[in-house]
Amino acid sequence: MSVDKKTKTILPGSTIGILGGGQLGRMMALEGRRMGYQFITLDPTENSPCGQVADYQFVASYDDVEQAKEMASRCDVITYEFENVSSLVAEALGKHSFVPQGSRLLFFTQHRIREKEALMELKVPVAPFHVIRSRQDLFDGLKAIGTPSILKTATGGYDGKGQIVLKKPEDAESAFQLLVQHDRELILEQFVPFEKEISVIVARRQSGEMEFFPVAENIHRNNILHQSLVPARIGQRVESEAREIGKRIAEGLQVVGLIAVEMFLTGDGRIYVNELAPRPHNSGHYTYDACVTSQFEQHLRAICNLPLGSTQLLSPVVMVNILGEHVNQVVEKIAEFPPNIKIHLYGKKGAKPKRKMGHLNVLAETTEVALQIIDQLKIWKKTEDVR
Ligand code: AMP
Repeated sequence: MSVDKKTKTILPGSTIGILGGGQLGRMMALEGRRMGYQFITLDPTENSPCGQVADYQFVASYDDVEQAKEMASRCDVITYEFENVSSLVAEALGKHSFVPQGSRLLFFTQHRIREKEALMELKVPVAPFHVIRSRQDLFDGLKAIGTPSILKTATGGYDGKGQIVLKKPEDAESAFQLLVQHDRELILEQFVPFEKEISVIVARRQSGEMEFFPVAENIHRNNILHQSLVPARIGQRVESEAREIGKRIAEGLQVVGLIAVEMFLTGDGRIYVNELAPRPHNSGHYTYDACVTSQFEQHLRAICNLPLGSTQLLSPVVMVNILGEHVNQVVEKIAEFPPNIKIHLYGKKGAKPKRKMGHLNVLAETTEVALQIIDQLKIWKKTEDVR
């Protein structure tokens, strides 16, 4: 209805379908509604974070091809909000519906080995790795890569799940036995002695137009993202190099929509790509309040074939994640929060420890000041206390 058939532009008034109903879909829908779009989501959990703000939710599993097709028949364009959506579903939908991101990108980003091999082909620096499909491979891998290293499942891992650090060769056997229960394909990666973790989010349209969000400096605790600082405390050379790597990946993989690129930065200034995410990313949540265009709006612009928005940073910012163990304190203390804190809660029931429940974007003159403000809230342990 509101589709310009000649240019394949999806105009406001159209309906956007989102596979997956988590917080990323929720923020996409909140931003898209402001722009006049309608939303349908598909997620197995009733009243999902996205379902709460969408026009309609299909309650179905992510690999339910029939329900996904039913959703697609009511939408003008389909997107996904997490990479474990079955690529078979995305492929099936692509036959009859408009899925501008395609299924090829999912094929790579769902599988660490395929992802690493694609990055190598693009001459993007990654940590040395060895593919493990048998005990002999593990033996050969240890010889080639050594320790410290990390053994990871090829599929299904996130937030540090599905991976074990091998400090010495003797750790390998038990790690192997544990991980092969989840996936028969593993990858052994050299441990990168990084000084910082950084990420860049790139938006690309079908036409090849691209925009880059400012690089974020990411601090993890227990393998889960804790804070993103923007501007990152890096020099101009690293900022440009990170963008250049993002550009090579977005072009090389023919991305339409967003691609988030997580990287390690070593003390001697080298960058290694760790992981890709073909969607909005936790390390880009800061853009919602601190940039002219948020990553969510930018993703919608890219898939709807609208010109990309400005990624200009309006203020230094620190994003801090609210996990299950923090959410009650955040709600209790909200009346005392200073006015430069933007609060985002995802409407999830069940505040389990380590579950992402929301985040704060703290805007301040500098990221140092924003970090002090966060410390003063006394909700999270101070950085010096967790070292
Ligand atoms: P991932 O699930 O691959 O994003 O890994 C989660 C976290 O584990 C990363 O953010 C890093 O802090 C750490 N990590 C993963 N791979 C490596 C590596 N090869 N070297 C050092 N640290 C790593």
